[in-house]
Amino acid sequence: MFLPRLFVLLFCTATMLVAQGASTPLKIEVRRALPVEEEPQPRLPDTAALPRVLPVNRKSVYSRCETTLPLIAITFDDGPDPVLTPRLLDLLKQRGIHATFFLVGKNAAAFPDVVRRIVAEGHEVGNHSWSHPLFTQLGQESVESQLRRTHDAILKACGTAPLLYRPPYGALRVSQRARIEKTFGYPAILWDVDPQDWQHPRSAQKVYDAVHSQTRPGSIILCHDIHETTVAAMPATLDDLTARGYRFATVTQLIAFTTPPEMVGPPAPGSVPQPSIPLADPSPATARDDAVKGGDTKHEKPVHSP
Ligand SMILES: [Zn+2]
Repeated sequence: MFLPRLFVLLFCTATMLVAQGASTPLKIEVRRALPVEEEPQPRLPDTAALPRVLPVNRKSVYSRCETTLPLIAITFDDGPDPVLTPRLLDLLKQRGIHATFFLVGKNAAAFPDVVRRIVAEGHEVGNHSWSHPLFTQLGQESVESQLRRTHDAILKACGTAPLLYRPPYGALRVSQRARIEKTFGYPAILWDVDPQDWQHPRSAQKVYDAVHSQTRPGSIILCHDIHETTVAAMPATLDDLTARGYRFATVTQLIAFTTPPEMVGPPAPGSVPQPSIPLADPSPATARDDAVKGGDTKHEKPVHSP
């Protein structure tokens, strides 16, 4: 009687071991079923190449760019600052990141060496007015004078003309925008990520947290390189975005890489697609502009740094 019971016991133990052995690969199978490794990686454009023109079918105003690619643009306003901007440029250079600097004209005229360095290191420069006034309180001649003086100061400092502008405080009437676009050829660049780094109490942690939580593919991030806390936040902020798979582009690159080619009728067999004539200012862009403006009213408080 003892031997048959021993065989039964051994058989059951062996069966349990086999069952356990079989269950282990099943767990691995479940993990491998997650398509992380097998999903095709998006093909990202070459961000080392700096386009000097914008697509003809670009929009008139951008607060972000529509894309599923992990491309983003980080922008720094109100400089250049003779101390903080070079410190920021060092951080960007160490990481191989290109940014866009919306320069205040009188600062560009005061620190042309810094402007030259910005451009020499592959960053983009945009026009942010001469003295940072609220455009909505100015007549058209004053607005154009603010932008013209700055355009000329940037060109004189670095030999490169800006292709873009950002109205101070993001505030702009639609009629002003149309005139500026006609006169200068600039699209208006706003933002969709705002850490409010100018607002007291300032803290590097606040900048990091806001950029971390608000950034998504196609984002345009608003920062100011005239605040020590903003520059202090950059190593962790930039490294976090990079670790999460984002690639940095200048604003012109972001627009160029995310604007679909505009087709004029069906292409002839074997022909190269050509862009169409620029579209008239579409009303959805106007609505978005107004919506963004409305959302930025806090930014218009005079507490904002120049
Ligand atoms: Zn500003």
